[in-house]
Amino acid sequence: MKNLTAEQKIRQRLTGDPYTDPNFQHDGIAITRWLTGGIAPSTHVNLQQKNDQIIAFCPQCGKELGQFDADYGYKTPEKIAKIREEGSKHQQQHLEESNQTP
Ligand SMILES: [Zn+2]
Repeated sequence: MKNLTAEQKIRQRLTGDPYTDPNFQHDGIAITRWLTGGIAPSTHVNLQQKNDQIIAFCPQCGKELGQFDADYGYKTPEKIAKIREEGSKHQQQHLEESNQTP
């Protein structure tokens, strides 16, 4: 077997192949964040970056709850507040649905 570089060895350990890129969790809808603090309602979301936007999804059903600029522009706090409002209303429905099942 020929010598592999350190990077190739790591790739091989992670993927079984020295030339394959491993799939890290941040590549997909896998980052769950609690949006909390202040007076706005708390909510939990999955964040995924798409071009210059970061999109927030409901972790339970995948519904889009809102988005904000990936460069965290000056309107970001306002947009996140909207996502929290939307998300907490939306997730309240999930709670009510699960309370209805016997
Ligand atoms: Zn949902």
